[in-house]
Amino acid sequence: MTWSTLPALMYHSVSSVGGPLRDLAVPPERLAEQLAALSGAGYRLVGLTEALDLLERGSAEKMVAVTFDDGYRDFLTQGVPALRKAGAGATLYASVGHLGGRAGWLGEWADDFGPMMTWEDLDEVAASGVEIGNHSLIHHPLDVLTAAQLREEVVSSHDRLEQRLQRKVRSFAYPHGYNSDLVRRVVEQSGHDNATEVGRRVHTPSERRFAVPRFQPTPDHTGADLVALIEGGPVLSAQLKQYAQPGWRMVRKLARKAGRNLT
Ligand SMILES: [Zn+2]
Repeated sequence: MTWSTLPALMYHSVSSVGGPLRDLAVPPERLAEQLAALSGAGYRLVGLTEALDLLERGSAEKMVAVTFDDGYRDFLTQGVPALRKAGAGATLYASVGHLGGRAGWLGEWADDFGPMMTWEDLDEVAASGVEIGNHSLIHHPLDVLTAAQLREEVVSSHDRLEQRLQRKVRSFAYPHGYNSDLVRRVVEQSGHDNATEVGRRVHTPSERRFAVPRFQPTPDHTGADLVALIEGGPVLSAQLKQYAQPGWRMVRKLARKAGRNLT
Protein backbone atom coordinates (compact mmCIF):
# COMPACT_ATOMS: atom_id res chain seq x y z
CA MET A 1 0.00 0.00 0.00
CA THR A 2 1.08 3.58 -0.44
CA TRP A 3 0.94 6.05 2.45
CA SER A 4 -1.63 8.18 0.70
CA THR A 5 -4.25 5.64 1.78
CA LEU A 6 -5.76 5.76 5.25
CA PRO A 7 -6.51 2.79 7.47
CA ALA A 8 -9.21 3.67 10.01
CA LEU A 9 -10.17 1.64 13.08
CA MET A 10 -13.61 1.21 14.62
CA TYR A 11 -13.65 0.44 18.33
CA HIS A 12 -16.73 0.37 20.56
CA SER A 13 -16.44 -0.42 24.28
CA VAL A 14 -13.11 -0.49 26.15
CA SER A 15 -13.96 -3.44 28.40
CA SER A 16 -14.39 -7.17 28.37
CA VAL A 17 -17.78 -8.64 27.45
CA GLY A 18 -18.88 -12.26 26.94
CA GLY A 19 -21.55 -13.66 24.63
CA PRO A 20 -22.29 -12.92 20.99
CA LEU A 21 -21.28 -9.24 21.19
CA ARG A 22 -17.83 -9.88 22.68
CA ASP A 23 -16.06 -8.43 19.61
CA LEU A 24 -17.54 -5.02 20.36
CA ALA A 25 -15.43 -4.75 23.52
CA VAL A 26 -11.63 -4.57 23.56
CA PRO A 27 -10.11 -4.70 27.08
CA PRO A 28 -7.90 -1.73 28.08
CA GLU A 29 -4.68 -3.75 28.16
CA ARG A 30 -5.38 -5.14 24.66
CA LEU A 31 -6.18 -1.66 23.37
CA ALA A 32 -2.87 -0.41 24.81
CA GLU A 33 -1.04 -3.30 23.10
CA GLN A 34 -2.72 -2.58 19.74
CA LEU A 35 -1.99 1.16 19.88
CA ALA A 36 1.64 0.54 20.88
CA ALA A 37 2.10 -1.92 17.99
CA LEU A 38 0.74 0.60 15.47
CA SER A 39 3.03 3.34 16.82
CA GLY A 40 5.91 0.88 16.78
CA ALA A 41 5.18 0.17 13.11
CA GLY A 42 5.62 3.88 12.40
CA TYR A 43 1.99 5.04 12.30
CA ARG A 44 0.85 8.34 13.73
CA LEU A 45 -2.50 7.80 15.48
CA VAL A 46 -5.03 10.59 14.93
CA GLY A 47 -8.75 11.32 14.88
CA LEU A 48 -10.58 10.85 11.58
CA THR A 49 -11.15 14.50 10.64
CA GLU A 50 -7.55 15.37 11.46
CA ALA A 51 -6.35 12.49 9.29
CA LEU A 52 -8.52 13.56 6.35
CA ASP A 53 -7.37 17.17 6.72
CA LEU A 54 -3.72 16.09 6.73
CA LEU A 55 -4.20 13.91 3.65
CA GLU A 56 -5.97 16.75 1.87
CA ARG A 57 -3.01 19.01 2.55
CA GLY A 58 -0.82 16.42 0.86
CA SER A 59 0.67 14.76 3.93
CA ALA A 60 2.50 11.55 3.06
CA GLU A 61 2.84 10.58 6.72
CA LYS A 62 1.89 7.04 7.79
CA MET A 63 -1.33 7.51 9.74
CA VAL A 64 -4.09 5.44 11.26
CA ALA A 65 -7.41 7.08 12.18
CA VAL A 66 -8.65 5.78 15.54
CA THR A 67 -12.38 5.96 16.25
CA PHE A 68 -14.74 4.77 18.99
CA ASP A 69 -18.48 4.42 18.40
CA ASP A 70 -21.48 4.90 20.70
CA GLY A 71 -20.04 6.66 23.78
CA TYR A 72 -19.81 4.04 26.52
CA ARG A 73 -18.64 5.48 29.82
CA ASP A 74 -15.61 3.18 29.72
CA PHE A 75 -14.26 5.32 26.90
CA LEU A 76 -13.72 8.12 29.42
CA THR A 77 -12.42 5.93 32.24
CA GLN A 78 -10.32 3.46 30.19
CA GLY A 79 -10.07 4.68 26.61
CA VAL A 80 -8.89 8.24 27.20
CA PRO A 81 -6.05 7.19 29.57
CA ALA A 82 -4.91 4.50 27.07
CA LEU A 83 -4.92 7.03 24.23
CA ARG A 84 -3.02 9.57 26.31
CA LYS A 85 -0.37 6.99 27.23
CA ALA A 86 0.00 6.04 23.56
CA GLY A 87 0.16 9.67 22.44
CA ALA A 88 -2.81 8.93 20.21
CA GLY A 89 -5.57 11.16 18.94
CA ALA A 90 -9.05 9.75 18.29
CA THR A 91 -12.64 10.47 17.34
CA LEU A 92 -15.50 9.52 19.66
CA TYR A 93 -18.92 9.18 18.01
CA ALA A 94 -21.66 10.01 20.50
CA SER A 95 -25.12 8.52 20.21
CA VAL A 96 -26.71 11.73 21.42
CA GLY A 97 -30.14 10.50 22.53
CA HIS A 98 -28.55 7.78 24.67
CA LEU A 99 -26.17 10.04 26.64
CA GLY A 100 -26.74 9.40 30.34
CA GLY A 101 -28.67 6.21 29.52
CA ARG A 102 -27.86 2.77 28.18
CA ALA A 103 -27.24 1.20 24.77
CA GLY A 104 -30.85 0.08 24.34
CA TRP A 105 -30.32 -0.96 20.70
CA LEU A 106 -28.15 -3.86 21.93
CA GLY A 107 -31.28 -5.50 23.31
CA GLU A 108 -30.74 -8.02 26.08
CA TRP A 109 -26.96 -7.40 25.97
CA ALA A 110 -27.14 -3.64 26.63
CA ASP A 111 -26.35 -3.92 30.33
CA ASP A 112 -23.15 -5.88 29.62
CA PHE A 113 -21.72 -2.68 28.14
CA GLY A 114 -22.41 -0.53 31.21
CA PRO A 115 -23.71 3.04 31.22
CA MET A 116 -23.32 5.51 28.38
CA MET A 117 -21.46 8.74 29.01
CA THR A 118 -23.36 11.73 30.37
CA TRP A 119 -23.08 15.18 28.77
CA GLU A 120 -20.60 16.09 31.53
CA ASP A 121 -18.50 13.04 30.63
CA LEU A 122 -18.59 14.14 27.00
CA ASP A 123 -17.33 17.61 28.00
CA GLU A 124 -14.41 15.90 29.72
CA VAL A 125 -13.63 13.78 26.66
CA ALA A 126 -13.68 16.86 24.44
CA ALA A 127 -11.41 18.71 26.88
CA SER A 128 -8.90 15.84 26.65
CA GLY A 129 -8.40 16.65 22.95
CA VAL A 130 -10.47 13.81 21.49
CA GLU A 131 -12.62 14.85 18.51
CA ILE A 132 -16.35 14.44 19.17
CA GLY A 133 -18.30 13.14 16.18
CA ASN A 134 -22.00 12.55 15.70
CA HIS A 135 -23.55 9.04 15.82
CA SER A 136 -27.20 10.18 15.46
CA LEU A 137 -29.87 10.43 18.14
CA ILE A 138 -31.29 6.97 18.78
CA HIS A 139 -28.82 4.75 16.88
CA HIS A 140 -31.37 3.53 14.38
CA PRO A 141 -30.38 2.36 10.86
CA LEU A 142 -30.89 5.58 8.88
CA ASP A 143 -31.69 4.06 5.50
CA VAL A 144 -35.11 2.77 6.62
CA LEU A 145 -36.39 6.05 8.13
CA THR A 146 -38.81 8.49 6.55
CA ALA A 147 -37.25 11.72 5.26
CA ALA A 148 -38.55 13.63 8.31
CA GLN A 149 -37.21 11.05 10.78
CA LEU A 150 -33.88 10.98 8.95
CA ARG A 151 -33.49 14.76 9.23
CA GLU A 152 -34.41 14.68 12.92
CA GLU A 153 -31.86 11.91 13.59
CA VAL A 154 -29.04 13.72 11.79
CA VAL A 155 -29.74 17.44 12.20
CA SER A 156 -30.91 17.64 15.80
CA SER A 157 -28.06 15.41 17.06
CA HIS A 158 -25.54 17.54 15.17
CA ASP A 159 -26.96 20.81 16.50
CA ARG A 160 -27.24 19.59 20.09
CA LEU A 161 -23.59 18.50 20.04
CA GLU A 162 -22.40 21.82 18.58
CA GLN A 163 -24.43 23.87 21.07
CA ARG A 164 -23.12 21.90 24.02
CA LEU A 165 -19.50 21.65 22.91
CA GLN A 166 -19.29 25.11 21.34
CA ARG A 167 -17.24 23.77 18.49
CA LYS A 168 -17.81 22.43 14.99
CA VAL A 169 -18.93 18.81 14.79
CA ARG A 170 -17.53 17.69 11.45
CA SER A 171 -17.64 13.90 11.46
CA PHE A 172 -20.57 11.47 11.39
CA ALA A 173 -20.69 7.68 11.88
CA TYR A 174 -23.67 5.84 10.38
CA PRO A 175 -25.41 3.68 13.03
CA HIS A 176 -24.79 0.03 12.10
CA GLY A 177 -22.89 1.34 9.07
CA TYR A 178 -26.02 1.67 6.90
CA ASN A 179 -26.08 4.56 4.43
CA SER A 180 -27.54 5.48 1.06
CA ASP A 181 -27.36 8.40 -1.39
CA LEU A 182 -30.12 10.20 0.55
CA VAL A 183 -28.56 9.49 3.96
CA ARG A 184 -25.15 10.75 2.79
CA ARG A 185 -26.71 13.88 1.32
CA VAL A 186 -28.58 14.75 4.54
CA VAL A 187 -25.42 14.17 6.58
CA GLU A 188 -23.48 16.52 4.29
CA GLN A 189 -26.20 19.19 4.24
CA SER A 190 -26.47 19.26 8.04
CA GLY A 191 -22.95 20.58 8.54
CA HIS A 192 -20.75 17.48 8.64
CA ASP A 193 -17.83 17.31 6.23
CA ASN A 194 -16.99 13.61 6.49
CA ALA A 195 -18.65 10.36 7.54
CA THR A 196 -17.63 6.79 8.21
CA GLU A 197 -19.08 3.31 7.78
CA VAL A 198 -17.77 -0.23 8.36
CA GLY A 199 -16.10 -1.47 5.15
CA ARG A 200 -13.03 -3.37 6.44
CA ARG A 201 -10.50 -1.92 4.01
CA VAL A 202 -8.23 1.12 3.74
CA HIS A 203 -9.60 4.48 2.65
CA THR A 204 -8.24 6.06 -0.53
CA PRO A 205 -8.51 9.86 -0.45
CA SER A 206 -10.01 10.05 -3.94
CA GLU A 207 -12.98 8.05 -2.62
CA ARG A 208 -16.17 9.42 -1.11
CA ARG A 209 -15.48 11.49 1.99
CA PHE A 210 -18.93 10.50 3.29
CA ALA A 211 -18.28 6.76 3.35
CA VAL A 212 -14.82 6.26 4.87
CA PRO A 213 -14.41 2.53 5.56
CA ARG A 214 -13.09 1.22 8.88
CA PHE A 215 -11.56 -2.00 10.19
CA GLN A 216 -12.87 -3.44 13.45
CA PRO A 217 -10.15 -4.49 15.92
CA THR A 218 -11.38 -7.31 18.17
CA PRO A 219 -10.20 -8.54 21.58
CA ASP A 220 -8.50 -11.40 19.69
CA HIS A 221 -6.22 -9.19 17.61
CA THR A 222 -2.72 -9.01 19.04
CA GLY A 223 -0.83 -5.83 18.21
CA ALA A 224 0.95 -7.69 15.40
CA ASP A 225 -2.38 -9.00 14.06
CA LEU A 226 -3.77 -5.49 13.86
CA VAL A 227 -0.73 -4.18 11.98
CA ALA A 228 -1.08 -7.13 9.58
CA LEU A 229 -4.81 -6.50 9.18
CA ILE A 230 -4.43 -2.87 8.10
CA GLU A 231 -1.45 -3.65 5.88
CA GLY A 232 -3.28 -6.48 4.13
CA GLY A 233 -0.91 -9.15 5.46
CA PRO A 234 -1.80 -12.51 6.97
CA VAL A 235 -3.44 -12.32 10.39
CA LEU A 236 -1.91 -15.13 12.40
CA SER A 237 -4.10 -15.40 15.49
CA ALA A 238 -5.91 -18.75 15.25
CA GLN A 239 -8.65 -17.58 17.56
CA LEU A 240 -9.44 -14.82 15.15
CA LYS A 241 -10.77 -17.15 12.47
CA GLN A 242 -12.92 -18.96 14.98
CA TYR A 243 -14.71 -15.77 15.95
CA ALA A 244 -14.86 -14.11 12.51
CA GLN A 245 -16.99 -11.10 13.51
CA PRO A 246 -20.14 -12.69 15.03
CA GLY A 247 -20.67 -9.62 17.21
CA TRP A 248 -21.04 -7.23 14.34
CA ARG A 249 -23.41 -9.54 12.48
CA MET A 250 -25.54 -9.87 15.62
CA VAL A 251 -25.85 -6.11 16.02
CA ARG A 252 -26.91 -5.75 12.39
CA LYS A 253 -29.51 -8.45 12.90
CA LEU A 254 -30.88 -6.61 15.93
CA ALA A 255 -30.94 -3.43 13.88
CA ARG A 256 -32.88 -5.04 11.07
CA LYS A 257 -35.42 -6.31 13.59
CA ALA A 258 -35.74 -2.83 15.05
CA GLY A 259 -36.13 -1.44 11.53
CA ARG A 260 -39.04 -3.72 10.82
CA ASN A 261 -40.76 -2.75 14.06
CA LEU A 262 -40.51 0.87 13.09
CA THR A 263 -41.89 0.69 9.58
ZN1 LIG B 1 -22.92 2.46 17.04
